[in-house]
Amino acid sequence: LVQAISQLQVGAAAVARIHQVDTLPIESFELRKETRSRPAQPGPAGIRFDKVWFGYQDTTAAVHRNLSFQIPAGSTAAFVGPSGAGKSTVFALLERFYEPDAGTITIGGRDIKEWKLRRLRSMISYVEQDAPVLSGSLLDNLLLADAQASSTQIDDAVSRARLSALVDRLPDGLDTLVGHRGTRLSGGERQRVAIARAFLRRPRILLMDEATANLDAINERFLIEALDDLRDSTTVLTIAHRLSTVVAADQIIVMNNGTVDAAGSHTDLLSASDLYRTLAQTQLLTTDEPVKEIA
Ligand code: ADP
Ligand code: MG
Repeated sequence: LVQAISQLQVGAAAVARIHQVDTLPIESFELRKETRSRPAQPGPAGIRFDKVWFGYQDTTAAVHRNLSFQIPAGSTAAFVGPSGAGKSTVFALLERFYEPDAGTITIGGRDIKEWKLRRLRSMISYVEQDAPVLSGSLLDNLLLADAQASSTQIDDAVSRARLSALVDRLPDGLDTLVGHRGTRLSGGERQRVAIARAFLRRPRILLMDEATANLDAINERFLIEALDDLRDSTTVLTIAHRLSTVVAADQIIVMNNGTVDAAGSHTDLLSASDLYRTLAQTQLLTTDEPVKEIA
């Protein structure tokens, strides 16, 4: 049942996103097409965009214009840039919700068109800005990631995602009903539940659209360390709104107008990119909340 709910949830999310656009979704027929796929390759996957052009509709201006970047397997990359630069669209293309008009996207050295769609999606976890939590217990929500997870694995994921304090605070701990008809979780807490799921699933690629609100600022440094633990299994891409996440990334990709303005480390970019300097000063949240230890 938990697996069925999980599949329904994934399906519902895909449907919700399809309805946002007029572009014909490719997955309906693609899912039925049986393409030969290689055996599962565990471990983090490298990602490459090579001269990608993409527009949501033929009639409107291109969102991605000759977009190229490379993210090595097991590294972390932070995307920054003005609103509308095309950052979220990078994630949508990686999951193949849309097809580029030109150029190539490769994952694990292989054109994503060659991946069976189900396989492609199964190796990617996506943590949304406003991560959903289903009704049921907190434990039910975690088991969605892996119905077979042991209690040791659950405890490990809970502590890595910095949820221990929340679990201690809840009246029935992991068995507390949450979401609809249960204890309401804050946006930051829901995002951490989604991150705990990612720890249980160990996806080859984790896409995170960071919450803009400062809700979980207290835990952000710990979260960055936790994400670092995923390196063996996962390449992490963040659309980052917090300076701390940006600075911690191996590579910062500054996007503007659908293309890469500059890429590099925080220090490099401070001197190399006027746009980055401006963003760092004006848009990236810095927190002045003290960082508290979590028991
Ligand atoms: P960012 O995440 O950098 O703010 P997006 O990738 O969300 O940028 O959007 C880039 C451009 O594409 C924007 O002009 C936006 O309005 C447009 N856009 C985003 N999503 C859709 C969609 N589903 N349908 C049509 N246009 C979209
Ligand atoms: Mg966005």
